[in-house]
Amino acid sequence: MIYLDHNATTPPAPQVIAAMLPILSGVWANSSSQHGPGQDAKRVLSTARATVARVLGGKPVEVIFTSGATEANHLAVRGLLAASAPERKRVLFSSVEHAGHLKLAHALREAGTVVDLIPVRPNGTLDLAAAAALIGPDVALVSLMAANNETGVLMPVAEVAALTQAAGARLHVDATQLIGKLPFNFAACGADAVSLSAHKFQGPKGVGALLLRQGVTLLPQTLGSQERGRRGGTENLPGIVGMAAALELLGDIDLEAQRVASLRDALETGLRQALPDTHIWCTSVPRLPGTSYLRFGQLSVDVVLQRLDRLNIAASSGAACSSGGSQASQVLTAMGVPTEEALAAVRFSLGRSNTQEDIDTLLNTLPALLEPLLREEILTAP
Ligand code: PMP
Repeated sequence: MIYLDHNATTPPAPQVIAAMLPILSGVWANSSSQHGPGQDAKRVLSTARATVARVLGGKPVEVIFTSGATEANHLAVRGLLAASAPERKRVLFSSVEHAGHLKLAHALREAGTVVDLIPVRPNGTLDLAAAAALIGPDVALVSLMAANNETGVLMPVAEVAALTQAAGARLHVDATQLIGKLPFNFAACGADAVSLSAHKFQGPKGVGALLLRQGVTLLPQTLGSQERGRRGGTENLPGIVGMAAALELLGDIDLEAQRVASLRDALETGLRQALPDTHIWCTSVPRLPGTSYLRFGQLSVDVVLQRLDRLNIAASSGAACSSGGSQASQVLTAMGVPTEEALAAVRFSLGRSNTQEDIDTLLNTLPALLEPLLREEILTAP
Protein backbone atom coordinates (compact mmCIF):
# COMPACT_ATOMS: atom_id res chain seq x y z
CA MET A 1 0.00 0.00 0.00
CA ILE A 2 1.12 3.55 -0.73
CA TYR A 3 0.04 5.62 2.24
CA LEU A 4 -0.65 9.26 1.39
CA ASP A 5 -2.86 10.13 4.37
CA HIS A 6 -0.36 11.24 7.01
CA ASN A 7 -2.53 14.17 8.14
CA ALA A 8 -5.18 11.65 9.26
CA THR A 9 -2.68 9.55 11.17
CA THR A 10 0.81 8.11 10.80
CA PRO A 11 2.12 4.57 11.08
CA PRO A 12 3.72 4.13 14.52
CA ALA A 13 7.51 3.88 14.30
CA PRO A 14 8.99 0.48 15.28
CA GLN A 15 11.11 2.26 17.92
CA VAL A 16 7.91 3.69 19.43
CA ILE A 17 6.36 0.25 19.73
CA ALA A 18 9.62 -1.13 21.15
CA ALA A 19 9.61 1.63 23.80
CA MET A 20 5.98 0.93 24.75
CA LEU A 21 6.04 -2.88 25.04
CA PRO A 22 8.10 -3.14 28.25
CA ILE A 23 5.85 -0.51 29.86
CA LEU A 24 2.68 -2.39 28.87
CA SER A 25 3.99 -5.65 30.28
CA GLY A 26 6.25 -4.53 33.12
CA VAL A 27 5.49 -1.01 34.32
CA TRP A 28 1.74 -1.28 34.72
CA ALA A 29 1.46 0.06 38.26
CA ASN A 30 -0.41 3.28 38.92
CA SER A 31 2.06 6.14 38.90
CA SER A 32 0.15 7.74 41.79
CA SER A 33 0.64 4.69 44.06
CA GLN A 34 2.97 4.88 47.06
CA HIS A 35 4.43 1.35 46.73
CA GLY A 36 7.62 0.45 44.92
CA PRO A 37 6.06 -0.47 41.53
CA GLY A 38 4.01 2.75 41.66
CA GLN A 39 7.15 4.76 42.33
CA ASP A 40 8.85 3.01 39.38
CA ALA A 41 5.94 4.06 37.16
CA LYS A 42 6.19 7.60 38.54
CA ARG A 43 9.88 7.76 37.57
CA VAL A 44 9.07 6.56 34.03
CA LEU A 45 6.32 9.19 33.79
CA SER A 46 8.62 11.95 34.95
CA THR A 47 11.38 10.92 32.49
CA ALA A 48 8.85 10.97 29.63
CA ARG A 49 7.56 14.37 30.78
CA ALA A 50 11.11 15.75 30.76
CA THR A 51 11.65 14.40 27.24
CA VAL A 52 8.42 15.90 25.90
CA ALA A 53 9.29 19.25 27.49
CA ARG A 54 12.87 19.22 26.16
CA VAL A 55 11.98 18.31 22.56
CA LEU A 56 9.14 20.84 22.41
CA GLY A 57 11.02 23.68 24.11
CA GLY A 58 8.98 23.85 27.31
CA LYS A 59 9.38 23.03 30.99
CA PRO A 60 8.26 19.71 32.54
CA VAL A 61 5.69 21.54 34.71
CA GLU A 62 4.16 22.98 31.55
CA VAL A 63 3.23 19.54 30.17
CA ILE A 64 -0.30 18.27 30.87
CA PHE A 65 -0.83 14.79 29.41
CA THR A 66 -4.21 14.20 27.76
CA SER A 67 -5.93 11.61 25.57
CA GLY A 68 -5.04 13.54 22.41
CA ALA A 69 -5.58 16.88 20.75
CA THR A 70 -9.38 16.95 21.00
CA GLU A 71 -9.22 16.76 24.78
CA ALA A 72 -6.29 19.20 24.92
CA ASN A 73 -8.27 21.67 22.78
CA HIS A 74 -11.33 21.38 25.02
CA LEU A 75 -9.25 21.74 28.18
CA ALA A 76 -7.52 24.83 26.83
CA VAL A 77 -10.60 26.65 25.60
CA ARG A 78 -13.03 25.75 28.37
CA GLY A 79 -10.34 25.92 31.05
CA LEU A 80 -8.91 29.30 30.03
CA LEU A 81 -12.36 30.77 29.49
CA ALA A 82 -13.52 29.64 32.94
CA ALA A 83 -10.40 31.19 34.51
CA SER A 84 -10.71 34.53 32.68
CA ALA A 85 -11.76 37.81 34.26
CA PRO A 86 -15.53 38.47 34.29
CA GLU A 87 -15.27 41.35 31.79
CA ARG A 88 -13.65 39.04 29.24
CA LYS A 89 -16.55 37.11 27.78
CA ARG A 90 -15.74 36.66 24.11
CA VAL A 91 -13.89 33.74 22.49
CA LEU A 92 -12.45 33.82 18.97
CA PHE A 93 -11.73 30.82 16.76
CA SER A 94 -10.47 30.86 13.19
CA SER A 95 -13.16 29.84 10.72
CA VAL A 96 -11.05 26.88 9.54
CA GLU A 97 -10.34 25.10 12.83
CA HIS A 98 -10.57 21.32 12.93
CA ALA A 99 -14.18 20.14 12.57
CA GLY A 100 -14.26 18.83 16.15
CA HIS A 101 -12.99 22.14 17.45
CA LEU A 102 -15.61 24.10 15.52
CA LYS A 103 -18.21 21.90 17.25
CA LEU A 104 -16.85 23.22 20.54
CA ALA A 105 -17.23 26.77 19.21
CA HIS A 106 -20.84 25.95 18.38
CA ALA A 107 -21.48 24.36 21.79
CA LEU A 108 -20.07 27.40 23.60
CA ARG A 109 -22.29 29.66 21.55
CA GLU A 110 -25.36 27.53 22.33
CA ALA A 111 -24.51 27.84 26.02
CA GLY A 112 -24.46 31.65 25.78
CA THR A 113 -20.79 32.54 25.22
CA VAL A 114 -20.13 35.13 22.53
CA VAL A 115 -18.05 33.34 19.89
CA ASP A 116 -16.69 35.04 16.79
CA LEU A 117 -14.93 33.37 13.89
CA ILE A 118 -11.88 35.03 12.35
CA PRO A 119 -12.26 34.65 8.58
CA VAL A 120 -9.65 33.38 6.14
CA ARG A 121 -8.82 34.85 2.75
CA PRO A 122 -9.50 33.02 -0.52
CA ASN A 123 -5.90 31.72 -0.45
CA GLY A 124 -6.53 29.98 2.90
CA THR A 125 -4.47 32.32 5.11
CA LEU A 126 -5.92 34.03 8.18
CA ASP A 127 -7.31 37.50 7.61
CA LEU A 128 -5.01 39.34 10.05
CA ALA A 129 -6.78 42.68 9.65
CA ALA A 130 -10.04 41.01 10.68
CA ALA A 131 -8.24 39.35 13.60
CA ALA A 132 -6.85 42.72 14.74
CA ALA A 133 -10.32 44.27 14.56
CA LEU A 134 -11.90 41.43 16.56
CA ILE A 135 -9.29 41.10 19.36
CA GLY A 136 -10.28 43.64 22.01
CA PRO A 137 -10.41 44.08 25.81
CA ASP A 138 -13.51 41.85 26.11
CA VAL A 139 -11.79 38.81 24.57
CA ALA A 140 -10.87 35.98 26.93
CA LEU A 141 -8.98 33.94 24.40
CA VAL A 142 -8.22 33.23 20.78
CA SER A 143 -7.99 29.64 19.59
CA LEU A 144 -5.99 29.26 16.40
CA MET A 145 -4.49 26.25 14.64
CA ALA A 146 -0.81 26.39 13.68
CA ALA A 147 -1.40 24.57 10.39
CA ASN A 148 -4.62 23.54 8.69
CA ASN A 149 -5.29 19.81 8.48
CA GLU A 150 -6.88 20.02 5.00
CA THR A 151 -4.98 22.71 3.09
CA GLY A 152 -1.76 22.56 5.13
CA VAL A 153 -1.73 26.38 5.24
CA LEU A 154 0.35 27.82 8.09
CA MET A 155 -1.36 30.32 10.33
CA PRO A 156 0.34 33.54 11.61
CA VAL A 157 0.77 32.44 15.23
CA ALA A 158 3.45 35.04 16.09
CA GLU A 159 1.36 37.92 14.70
CA VAL A 160 -1.77 36.79 16.53
CA ALA A 161 0.28 36.29 19.72
CA ALA A 162 1.37 39.93 19.48
CA LEU A 163 -2.29 40.96 19.16
CA THR A 164 -3.51 38.84 22.09
CA GLN A 165 -0.65 39.98 24.31
CA ALA A 166 -1.40 43.64 23.55
CA ALA A 167 -5.08 43.07 24.36
CA GLY A 168 -4.40 41.05 27.54
CA ALA A 169 -6.14 37.99 26.07
CA ARG A 170 -4.92 34.38 26.07
CA LEU A 171 -3.84 32.50 22.95
CA HIS A 172 -4.40 28.77 22.48
CA VAL A 173 -2.73 27.14 19.48
CA ASP A 174 -3.75 23.76 18.08
CA ALA A 175 -0.37 22.61 16.74
CA THR A 176 -1.56 19.04 16.04
CA GLN A 177 -0.69 19.16 12.34
CA LEU A 178 2.51 21.17 12.67
CA ILE A 179 4.41 19.30 15.40
CA GLY A 180 6.57 16.63 13.80
CA LYS A 181 6.38 18.21 10.34
CA LEU A 182 8.05 21.58 10.95
CA PRO A 183 10.26 22.93 13.76
CA PHE A 184 8.35 24.03 16.86
CA ASN A 185 9.42 25.66 20.12
CA PHE A 186 6.90 26.32 22.88
CA ALA A 187 8.96 28.97 24.68
CA ALA A 188 9.37 30.96 21.46
CA CYS A 189 5.91 30.56 19.92
CA GLY A 190 4.12 33.19 21.98
CA ALA A 191 1.08 31.05 22.82
CA ASP A 192 -0.21 30.45 26.35
CA ALA A 193 -1.35 26.92 25.56
CA VAL A 194 -0.56 24.47 22.76
CA SER A 195 -2.27 21.17 21.84
CA LEU A 196 -0.60 18.16 20.27
CA SER A 197 -1.43 14.55 19.46
CA ALA A 198 1.14 11.72 19.30
CA HIS A 199 -0.39 9.76 16.43
CA LYS A 200 0.34 12.58 13.99
CA PHE A 201 4.12 12.06 14.43
CA GLN A 202 4.55 8.28 14.47
CA GLY A 203 3.37 7.91 18.07
CA PRO A 204 0.42 5.94 19.45
CA LYS A 205 -3.22 6.99 19.25
CA GLY A 206 -5.19 8.19 22.26
CA VAL A 207 -2.41 10.24 23.82
CA GLY A 208 -1.37 13.86 23.50
CA ALA A 209 -0.67 16.89 25.62
CA LEU A 210 -1.58 20.45 26.38
CA LEU A 211 1.46 22.63 26.96
CA LEU A 212 0.43 25.38 29.38
CA ARG A 213 2.74 28.30 30.02
CA GLN A 214 3.93 28.40 33.61
CA GLY A 215 1.95 30.96 35.61
CA VAL A 216 -1.14 30.73 33.38
CA THR A 217 -4.13 29.29 35.20
CA LEU A 218 -6.92 27.22 33.75
CA LEU A 219 -9.82 25.45 35.40
CA PRO A 220 -9.57 21.67 35.04
CA GLN A 221 -12.32 19.98 33.08
CA THR A 222 -11.83 16.52 34.60
CA LEU A 223 -11.30 16.65 38.35
CA GLY A 224 -8.65 14.60 40.09
CA SER A 225 -5.19 14.90 41.58
CA GLN A 226 -3.13 13.94 38.52
CA GLU A 227 -1.21 16.41 36.34
CA ARG A 228 -1.03 18.86 39.29
CA GLY A 229 -4.80 18.89 39.48
CA ARG A 230 -5.13 20.23 35.95
CA ARG A 231 -6.33 16.97 34.36
CA GLY A 232 -7.71 14.21 36.52
CA GLY A 233 -7.42 10.56 35.48
CA THR A 234 -4.69 7.93 35.64
CA GLU A 235 -2.04 8.75 33.08
CA ASN A 236 -1.72 6.50 30.00
CA LEU A 237 1.88 5.55 30.75
CA PRO A 238 2.57 3.30 27.72
CA GLY A 239 1.10 5.95 25.43
CA ILE A 240 3.06 8.74 27.08
CA VAL A 241 6.31 6.76 26.80
CA GLY A 242 5.47 6.10 23.12
CA MET A 243 4.83 9.80 22.53
CA ALA A 244 8.17 10.74 24.14
CA ALA A 245 9.94 8.12 22.00
CA ALA A 246 8.26 9.48 18.85
CA LEU A 247 9.36 13.02 19.69
CA GLU A 248 12.95 11.89 20.24
CA LEU A 249 12.90 10.22 16.83
CA LEU A 250 12.07 13.44 15.00
CA GLY A 251 15.73 14.31 14.47
CA ASP A 252 16.53 16.99 11.89
CA ILE A 253 13.02 18.24 11.11
CA ASP A 254 14.20 20.80 8.53
CA LEU A 255 15.95 18.14 6.49
CA GLU A 256 12.96 15.80 6.55
CA ALA A 257 10.63 18.70 5.70
CA GLN A 258 12.73 19.48 2.63
CA ARG A 259 12.65 15.84 1.53
CA VAL A 260 8.88 15.59 1.93
CA ALA A 261 8.29 18.95 0.22
CA SER A 262 10.30 17.85 -2.80
CA LEU A 263 8.20 14.66 -3.06
CA ARG A 264 5.03 16.75 -2.78
CA ASP A 265 6.30 19.15 -5.46
CA ALA A 266 7.14 16.22 -7.77
CA LEU A 267 3.63 14.86 -7.24
CA GLU A 268 2.01 18.22 -8.03
CA THR A 269 4.16 18.89 -11.10
CA GLY A 270 3.57 15.39 -12.45
CA LEU A 271 -0.21 15.54 -11.94
CA ARG A 272 -0.46 18.96 -13.59
CA GLN A 273 1.52 17.73 -16.59
CA ALA A 274 -0.46 14.52 -17.02
CA LEU A 275 -3.88 15.99 -16.22
CA PRO A 276 -4.11 19.70 -17.10
CA ASP A 277 -7.52 19.93 -15.38
CA THR A 278 -5.79 19.49 -12.02
CA HIS A 279 -6.38 22.48 -9.73
CA ILE A 280 -4.28 22.69 -6.56
CA TRP A 281 -5.33 24.93 -3.69
CA CYS A 282 -3.05 27.14 -1.57
CA THR A 283 0.18 26.65 -3.54
CA SER A 284 1.21 30.30 -3.31
CA VAL A 285 1.20 30.56 0.49
CA PRO A 286 3.35 28.88 3.16
CA ARG A 287 2.00 25.40 3.88
CA LEU A 288 3.02 22.10 5.46
CA PRO A 289 5.67 20.28 3.41
CA GLY A 290 3.63 17.14 2.65
CA THR A 291 0.11 18.44 2.11
CA SER A 292 -1.42 18.72 -1.35
CA TYR A 293 -5.09 19.64 -1.61
CA LEU A 294 -6.47 19.45 -5.12
CA ARG A 295 -9.26 18.53 -7.49
CA PHE A 296 -9.24 16.90 -10.90
CA GLY A 297 -11.63 19.13 -12.84
CA GLN A 298 -14.90 18.56 -11.02
CA LEU A 299 -14.51 14.80 -10.90
CA SER A 300 -16.31 13.52 -7.82
CA VAL A 301 -13.88 12.71 -5.03
CA ASP A 302 -15.66 9.39 -4.48
CA VAL A 303 -14.72 8.33 -8.03
CA VAL A 304 -11.12 9.43 -7.53
CA LEU A 305 -10.82 7.62 -4.19
CA GLN A 306 -12.26 4.44 -5.76
CA ARG A 307 -9.59 4.52 -8.49
CA LEU A 308 -6.89 5.20 -5.91
CA ASP A 309 -8.16 2.28 -3.87
CA ARG A 310 -7.85 0.04 -6.93
CA LEU A 311 -4.22 1.12 -7.14
CA ASN A 312 -3.80 0.42 -3.42
CA ILE A 313 -3.11 4.09 -2.70
CA ALA A 314 -4.61 5.61 0.46
CA ALA A 315 -5.60 9.29 0.29
CA SER A 316 -8.47 11.30 1.71
CA SER A 317 -11.43 13.37 0.68
CA GLY A 318 -11.99 16.92 1.79
CA ALA A 319 -15.63 16.14 2.38
CA ALA A 320 -17.26 15.22 5.65
CA CYS A 321 -19.39 12.12 5.18
CA SER A 322 -22.67 11.85 6.99
CA SER A 323 -25.45 9.30 6.61
CA GLY A 324 -27.21 11.69 4.26
CA GLY A 325 -24.24 11.95 1.86
CA SER A 326 -21.16 14.11 1.54
CA GLN A 327 -20.91 17.71 2.62
CA ALA A 328 -18.41 20.16 1.17
CA SER A 329 -15.33 20.84 3.27
CA GLN A 330 -15.92 23.62 5.82
CA VAL A 331 -12.39 24.86 5.14
CA LEU A 332 -12.88 25.26 1.39
CA THR A 333 -16.30 26.78 1.98
CA ALA A 334 -14.73 29.31 4.37
CA MET A 335 -12.24 30.17 1.59
CA GLY A 336 -15.16 30.90 -0.73
CA VAL A 337 -14.73 27.83 -2.94
CA PRO A 338 -18.00 26.87 -4.71
CA THR A 339 -19.67 23.69 -3.40
CA GLU A 340 -19.31 21.72 -6.67
CA GLU A 341 -15.57 22.34 -6.65
CA ALA A 342 -15.22 21.62 -2.95
CA LEU A 343 -17.00 18.28 -3.41
CA ALA A 344 -14.19 17.25 -5.78
CA ALA A 345 -11.44 17.87 -3.19
CA VAL A 346 -8.80 15.19 -2.70
CA ARG A 347 -6.12 15.46 -0.04
CA PHE A 348 -2.76 13.79 -0.43
CA SER A 349 -0.68 14.07 2.74
CA LEU A 350 2.85 12.78 2.46
CA GLY A 351 5.14 11.95 5.34
CA ARG A 352 8.10 10.05 6.66
CA SER A 353 6.98 6.72 5.22
CA ASN A 354 6.99 7.98 1.60
CA THR A 355 9.69 7.65 -1.05
CA GLN A 356 10.20 8.89 -4.62
CA GLU A 357 9.12 5.43 -5.75
CA ASP A 358 5.65 6.00 -4.24
CA ILE A 359 5.26 9.19 -6.25
CA ASP A 360 6.54 7.55 -9.45
CA THR A 361 4.07 4.69 -9.03
CA LEU A 362 1.16 7.09 -8.55
CA LEU A 363 2.17 9.20 -11.54
CA ASN A 364 2.61 6.10 -13.71
CA THR A 365 -0.84 4.73 -12.92
CA LEU A 366 -3.43 7.27 -11.73
CA PRO A 367 -3.51 9.65 -14.73
CA ALA A 368 -4.32 6.77 -17.12
CA LEU A 369 -7.35 5.87 -14.97
CA LEU A 370 -8.61 9.42 -14.57
CA GLU A 371 -7.94 10.82 -18.03
CA PRO A 372 -10.89 9.05 -19.78
CA LEU A 373 -13.22 10.07 -16.93
CA LEU A 374 -12.16 13.70 -17.24
CA ARG A 375 -12.67 13.64 -21.00
CA GLU A 376 -16.13 12.15 -20.51
CA GLU A 377 -16.91 14.75 -17.84
CA ILE A 378 -15.98 17.58 -20.20
CA LEU A 379 -18.02 16.09 -23.03
CA THR A 380 -21.09 15.60 -20.86
CA ALA A 381 -20.87 18.93 -19.02
CA PRO A 382 -23.85 21.17 -19.75
N1 PMP B 1 -6.75 19.25 15.60
C1 PMP B 1 -6.31 19.04 14.35
C2 PMP B 1 -5.80 20.19 13.54
C3 PMP B 1 -6.32 17.74 13.82
O1 PMP B 1 -5.89 17.54 12.57
C4 PMP B 1 -6.80 16.67 14.62
C5 PMP B 1 -6.84 15.25 14.10
N2 PMP B 1 -7.28 15.08 12.81
C6 PMP B 1 -7.27 16.96 15.90
C7 PMP B 1 -7.22 18.26 16.36
C8 PMP B 1 -7.81 15.88 16.79
O2 PMP B 1 -6.78 15.03 17.25
P1 PMP B 1 -7.10 13.72 18.09
O3 PMP B 1 -7.81 12.80 17.19
O4 PMP B 1 -5.77 13.19 18.51
O5 PMP B 1 -7.93 14.09 19.26
